Parts: sequence; C-alpha cells; structure tokens
Amino acid sequence: MISIEEFRNDAHKLVDWIADYYRDAAAYPVKSQVIPGDIASKLPGLPPEAAETFDAVFADFENILLPGMTHWQSPNFFAYFPANSSFPSLLGEMLTAALGAQCMKWETSPAATELEEVVMKWLRQMTGLPDTFEGVIQDTASTATLCSILTAREKHSSCTINQQGFLNQPVYRVYCSSEAHSSIDKAVRIAGIGHDNLVKIPVDHEFKMNVPALKKCIDSDLKQGYVPLCVVAALGTTGSTAVDPLFEIAQTTREYNLWLHVDAAFAGSALILPEYRWMIRGIEDVDSFVFNPHKWLFTNFDCSAYFVKDRDALIRTFQLVPEYLKSQVHMQANDYSNWGIQLGRRFRALKLWFVIRMFGVKGLQEKIRFHIRLAADFEKRLLEAGNYEILAPRLFNLICFRLNPSLNLHGDQLDRLNENLLQLLNKTGKLYISHTRLNNRYALRFMISQTNTGIENVEEAWQLLLEKSTEVIRENKIKPA
Ligand SMILES: *Cc1c(COP(=O)(O)O)cnc(C)c1O
Repeated sequence: MISIEEFRNDAHKLVDWIADYYRDAAAYPVKSQVIPGDIASKLPGLPPEAAETFDAVFADFENILLPGMTHWQSPNFFAYFPANSSFPSLLGEMLTAALGAQCMKWETSPAATELEEVVMKWLRQMTGLPDTFEGVIQDTASTATLCSILTAREKHSSCTINQQGFLNQPVYRVYCSSEAHSSIDKAVRIAGIGHDNLVKIPVDHEFKMNVPALKKCIDSDLKQGYVPLCVVAALGTTGSTAVDPLFEIAQTTREYNLWLHVDAAFAGSALILPEYRWMIRGIEDVDSFVFNPHKWLFTNFDCSAYFVKDRDALIRTFQLVPEYLKSQVHMQANDYSNWGIQLGRRFRALKLWFVIRMFGVKGLQEKIRFHIRLAADFEKRLLEAGNYEILAPRLFNLICFRLNPSLNLHGDQLDRLNENLLQLLNKTGKLYISHTRLNNRYALRFMISQTNTGIENVEEAWQLLLEKSTEVIRENKIKPA
C-alpha cells in the first residue's frame, strides 16, 4: 500500500506533469493517430499479481496510453462540440475525487446538496431562465432528456405507466426537428414510446424547425388516434447550431397542451450573454431545459444542467419513497437522487462553483464572446478567399463550410474533395476538425471554443487550411480556374 508520504510525493509529480501538459498542449498531435488495437496490444492481458509503483504505472501512461489520446484540451481542437476544462474546474474536480463522497441525499453530504442548490440558482440567474425553474445537475444531456420524456409520460398518464406498464395505454407521439440530436431518439426508445413514434419535423433553409409542419403533423396524428405528448426544441443543433423558433413552438405546445423540452446542450452557455437571450423568448411555456456546462462553460466533463418548471412532477416520476413519508422529508433540502435516474451522485457542483467564482460571470462572458469573435473573423476570411462556401448561418462560434473551387464540380465530387481535405488536415496532427451533412451534402465543421484557443491558433489553422486546400485540389487533379 502506498503511504501518505509516498502519495504526497507522487501527487506533486502529477501536478507538475499536468501543468507541463497544459503548457505544451499545442505540441501534441491533436487527433490520436493510432489504429484500432494499437493500444490494447501493448497492454498485458492479465492483471498484475504484485503491487506496482506509481512510477511504473505512470511510465506506461505516458508511453502507451498518451499516444492513444485525442487532446480535447489542445488549443487546436476545433472538432465536434468541445468538452472544455479549465484550471478552476480541474482544481474543483481534484477535490471531488479527494473527498470521494457519494452525495445521493442531503444527509450523505449536506454541503454537496446545498451547494448544488446554490450553483443551479446562480446558473439560472446567469442564463436568464425564469425564477420558477429549479435545477439539478445530471451527468449528460442525454440523461436529462430521458428524464424529461419520462416525466412527460408520467404526468400525462398520472403515473400509471410507472405503476402498471403500458397495458391499455395510448400510443404517444414525440416531435423534434430532423436536425435534433440522436439522444432524443435514444430517449423515446428507452421510455418505451417507440422509435416509430418519434416524428421528425422538417427544417427550413436555416435548419430550424418548420412550425407549420409541426402543427400539421400533430393534427394528422390526432386524427389517426395517436396521443401527442411532447415536443423537443433544439437551441443549437449539433449539425449547424441552428436555433428552433421557441416562441412559435411554445405557442403550439400551449395550444395543444403538450410538454415542451428544450435541448440547448451546447448553445445554452451563450445565454450568459444578454445579446443571446432572444433564443429563449417563450421560455415561460417550457417544461424542462437542459444545457451542458461541460461543453462551453469550461467545466470538465461531466456536468449537465437540467432545469424544470414542475419539480414535483419530476420527483413523482423518480422518487421511490412512499407517499406517506413525503411530508416528513418535506423539502427542507433536496434529495437529488429523487430527481433523476441514478441513486449515487458525484459532487459535481464543486467544480462548477470553482469555475463560476474563479472566472466570475464577466470572465465567462468575455471568453464566450471572444470565441464568437474569432469565429466571425474566420468566416470573413472564408468568404473573402472566394474558394469556400458557407453552408449554414453562423449564429455562434461554429462555421459550417466547404471548399468549392468554382470548377463546376457536381455534389458528389465536392463531397469527396472535402472528405479528402478533412483527412489531410487532421493527419497533420496540427488541428482537429470534424464534419457533418447539411442538405445531404458533406460540410466541414470548424468550431472555435476551446478554453485556451487564441488568435494565433486560429491563424495557424487558417494557413493550414489554405495549404491543404491547394494540395487537395492538386491531388484530385482538378486545375484551379
Ligand atoms: C452534445 C449534445 C447532446 C448530447 O450531450 P451529452 O451530454 O453528451 O449527452 C444532446 N443534444 C445536443 C444538441 C448536443 O449538442
């Protein structure tokens, strides 16, 4: 067993390594360059019989595992959505691990519950959500969305599905746009509603939900005897960060008396900027809302903020304390294990508290505005260069574009050209970008949101893009005009 003094010594070495890792983060190949099986083949198939030293384990971490890591905290990470960390978050996370508390109920660590209440209230104020909302930290947006759909189901069925199963129940329908995240698909499956009963509403030319089409689908479902249950609106779709028109959707859900869930997993963080509050016009009619501080609020994975209007409906769905005990526990403090799926809970509020305090609301706002400004500059460069096409409106810090060197290439050729460009770029290890399909066409996604990304990183990415664009045009034997 490792002694307290050995621990102190090893931990100091580790902290030094972490500081160096962040100092040198830009030097690592951003996207891991290994092939499947590379890493596992270097690890023994059997666990060690005898104890090994920290130094032995750490040497293998550096030599074997690190090359198999993609560096999400690199300032040259421009792929997907970020999973941002920051020093305040890391410090908080260290303490969470050190305390090792299991915070399922108030009494299993009162400070964990009460800090969660406080930081969720702070987040609600920071994002401009209504005072009537109450928040709970979930692991991911996927879990929060599942909780929302289960709550909608139980509220509608007066908890009979929880009790009796689906016997003699109506066939429910859930609605989201064709650009909504796959976590909605997963949630309707798990909730027993059935994938066939998730209705994907078409989007307009800006990839936002077409609300008249939503109404038409609901009307047609009603005529056929289905029971419309819930609409999921996306604020910031995964493909292009499109924002569904919440106000119009909310009018519709009010008119038909449907549950309304908002998935703002990525873009919700932008609500800390007053200039983005237009996104939540209509929020009073929303039943539940999720966004991920672990994406764009510099809080390391995982930390998802879930807000609900009717907390009693949420608790009725998940609580397993008999009805007659409720008044005795009565809500002096929350038992958050009754607010979701898992019983055991990590002390996630701690890192969020560190982040909010050590950045300050102002610091967080500045960081997010900076990312948006960098993205606007990048978009301007693309437009001015002439060889590129913007494929979706840029609302935040994501640019969806493709190389289109005006050579009358047809759609499939352009898809291939851009696929090759993506591969060439990522193979350099100097940056990492990802792609999506918009209107069924291949689009490069350039997302500027890493905590430590600076002007110089975007500048280097731009130069690399120009260089590799020339190369890919040449390799495809397409002569520039
Ligand atoms: C990332 C994302 C999700 C899934 O988030 P997890 O926290 O990983 O479950 C859901 N919806 C949208 C719009 C997202 O961008």
